[in-house]
Amino acid sequence: MGYSGFQVIKQGLFGQHGWKPLWRDPAPKPRYDAIIIGGGGHGLATAYYLAREHGLTNIAVLEKGHIGSGNIGRNTTIVRANYFLPGNQEFYSHSLKLWEGMSQQLNYNVMLSQRGVISLFHSDGQRDAFVRRGNAMINHGDDAILLDREGVRAHLPYLDFDNGRFPIYGGLFHPRGGTARHDAVAWGYARAADQRGVDLIQNCEVTGIDIENGAVTGVQTTRGAIKARKVAIVTAGRSGQVAALAGMRLPVESHVLQAFVTEGLKPIIDHVVSFGMGHFYISQSDKGGLVFGGDLDFYASYAARGNLPMAEHVMKAAMTLMPMIGKARVLRSWGGIMDMTPDGSPIIDTTDTKGLFLDCGWCYGGFKAVPASGFALAHLMATGQPHATAARFRLDRFRTGVGLMDEEGTGAQHNLH
Ligand SMILES: Cc1cc2nc3c(=O)[nH]c(=O)nc-3n(C[C@H](O)[C@H](O)[C@H](O)COP(=O)(O)OP(=O)(O)OC[C@H]3O[C@@H](n4cnc5c(N)ncnc54)[C@H](O)[C@@H]3O)c2cc1C
Repeated sequence: MGYSGFQVIKQGLFGQHGWKPLWRDPAPKPRYDAIIIGGGGHGLATAYYLAREHGLTNIAVLEKGHIGSGNIGRNTTIVRANYFLPGNQEFYSHSLKLWEGMSQQLNYNVMLSQRGVISLFHSDGQRDAFVRRGNAMINHGDDAILLDREGVRAHLPYLDFDNGRFPIYGGLFHPRGGTARHDAVAWGYARAADQRGVDLIQNCEVTGIDIENGAVTGVQTTRGAIKARKVAIVTAGRSGQVAALAGMRLPVESHVLQAFVTEGLKPIIDHVVSFGMGHFYISQSDKGGLVFGGDLDFYASYAARGNLPMAEHVMKAAMTLMPMIGKARVLRSWGGIMDMTPDGSPIIDTTDTKGLFLDCGWCYGGFKAVPASGFALAHLMATGQPHATAARFRLDRFRTGVGLMDEEGTGAQHNLH
């Protein structure tokens, strides 16, 4: 059913009994034209764009848990297009444009809030780097405003500007960046894909990938064998394990990333703020909780929860940047498994197995990438050609060394990106 003001009034008058489930619960068919492994943001967006842009509707998304149980429901919801390197730039720029039309297109409110992202700098050298990044963004058609110290103060008066170690020199303001409601994105894509005939099959873990004569023929699952000539691995933190089912060893390490939320407070932070001298970022949710996070826990893991040393590190960064946060009580913390590549940039590509596609390596930036990733992978699966915005996300760059995109400039260590 479509959503509208009229439906809200009608359902309100008749006891809210007329709402329908957002998607069907179909049994898996024995054969599909295409199978997407992983019902996270990227898998659902891929299914939606395959149906919408390419008319392919005999598709199944196979999800081992329930829709939204992975990183799509665990992230800190930041959306931005402030990338510097060619390859990343055009991709994230495209993604932000898709975000801006998403609620209308899906007829589902994903609560995109373009409240602006401010990335702080704390030294002259860092200012130079941000000026360069801002110019690159503007040249590319995205928005960037360089703020001096007083400019930052006008937006974020509650920060500690004179911290002894990390005084604030200024910030790069990206007004079109912001946040979106993460699980609404999963539900919106799921509902829209289902409406176009895509089967969303939950509690269906892929346990094997069938390959004959170098071509994929289907998958083995906990709900039986399913045939398909096109299969895409879109399993984020589990990409290495699922690719191993097809005999592949990916250049991806899985690491745990934590996030935190405080009790609900009155509106205080109306931007996304990113600390420049440590990996710390913060925004305020619509319910009032301060949502923040920091670095990876620095060890490879498949545990979707983290440990205390990193929690302490993140709290210290928070206190350094905005001492007033010490009065807020942390309500809970959680973790997600991140698919880290050696250059910090993702992979959307074909593989040596005909019909087998790969979409992974999102590190901790994959939420903002959801629409453009789904769009690009759908294009690749339907046409056999990479979409122009994702043409550089090749798997073989890690073998040849050509085309590496080290956005952070941190070298080849997975956990530093
Ligand atoms: C704490 C935290 C904060 C973050 N903050 C941000 C942020 O602010 N901005 C941003 O851009 N990004 C952020 N990210 C990163 C972002 O959430 C991820 O990069 C992105 O969600 C990954 O893609 P996905 O949504 O498809 O993954 P997921 O939702 O994890 O989807 C993958 C799915 O594959 C399924 N699966 C795995 N194995 C199998 C199998 N064998 N068979 C069937 N299904 C399988 C899993 O159950 C899962 O549902 C953050 C991540 C975390 C953990």
